[in-house]
Amino acid sequence: MIKENVRKIISELPERIELEAACKKRTPKEIMEALQGGVKIIGENYVQEAEEAFKVVGNKARWHFIGHLQKNKVKKAVRIFDMIETVDSLSLAGEIDKACGMEKKVIEVLIEVNSGREKQKFGILPEKAASLIMDTAGFNNIKIMGLMTMGPMTGDPEDARPYFIETKKLFDKLREIKIPDVCMKYLSMGMSNSYKVAIEEGANIIRVGTKIFGERNGL
Ligand SMILES: *Cc1c(COP(=O)(O)O)cnc(C)c1O
Repeated sequence: MIKENVRKIISELPERIELEAACKKRTPKEIMEALQGGVKIIGENYVQEAEEAFKVVGNKARWHFIGHLQKNKVKKAVRIFDMIETVDSLSLAGEIDKACGMEKKVIEVLIEVNSGREKQKFGILPEKAASLIMDTAGFNNIKIMGLMTMGPMTGDPEDARPYFIETKKLFDKLREIKIPDVCMKYLSMGMSNSYKVAIEEGANIIRVGTKIFGERNGL
């Protein structure tokens, strides 16, 4: 079923949209099936889970980190991931830069925006994003490639639309002001229930879990 689910989703996507499979709690075998269906980007929330999956999948896909990155996991994370979508502080950016320096690697990142302004959520507030980006752009081993947002989750995708619109406005503004060494290329937003709304509002990476793999046990 996984392969068919992926094929169906991809067949309905506009061409400029990249499908990222959100793989938390999925087995390497399930992830491989998603790749066979045409997935090219794997999104992982947990470094340890990614390490297990990486042993099987390796470089057959691009690896994006989409969870909350703890400082003590940064070294391991930069070995596996091609992109970290959840940078939301200068101190985390600094840790990533340092770890990449040791690995002799330049990593792509997205800045995670807390578009819903939810207290318990990660991400930087929209009005603080520009200054974080300008500061982070100074690190030699980090390349900023765009923005990511979750938005509040209520079950009704229409409730997410205003937050997707706000994040797209911010994305366009940041692109316009042309910050040196920053490439505003990717806007990662939308999940299984909201990706269609996200695409309408300008997303070009969507992160889909349940609609590819089925319901998760737990979480
Ligand atoms: C789990 C997850 C998704 C996908 O969620 P689904 O509702 O299963 O599609 C997307 N983004 C992030 C950051 C996630 O943790």
